[in-house]
Amino acid sequence: MNNARRCVACGSLFHPFSHIPDQRFCSALGCQRERRRRWQQQRLRSDPDYRDNQARAQAKWRARRPDYWRQYRATHPAYRERNCAMQRERNARRSSSPVANMDASPPLHPLASGFYILRRAVETGIAKMNACTVHIAVLSAPNGPRIRDCKEMT
Ligand SMILES: [Zn+2]
Repeated sequence: MNNARRCVACGSLFHPFSHIPDQRFCSALGCQRERRRRWQQQRLRSDPDYRDNQARAQAKWRARRPDYWRQYRATHPAYRERNCAMQRERNARRSSSPVANMDASPPLHPLASGFYILRRAVETGIAKMNACTVHIAVLSAPNGPRIRDCKEMT
């Protein structure tokens, strides 16, 4: 056979189909998959419309499977661990005010456990209306140990 050529994916010799004179991949399943993958990569790079369509199709796909990411997180602990770490970092950044970062100043004393009068913020101008008494138990100080940094998605 004089028309044999080498597959660009697996490197083995193959005979191109007569109707595909430019065939560069052999017909092995893995090589055909590779061919489609490269074709898509190329298309994504060169065709903004195609890129747009793909993004939209993916969004639609995700919308149809709302529990996909939940399951993904449940089955990929490393991914979840990384997310939790990022959440911890965000929490830490949020809770450390410039004042709290200065060693010289004493830590602001936050809320103490006890009974409080609770009123909706929008009603603060109105005297003692719709106020209720609540008991607040402070479970952790701002700089103390945190109870939970991120939601466990299971
Ligand atoms: Zn091949």
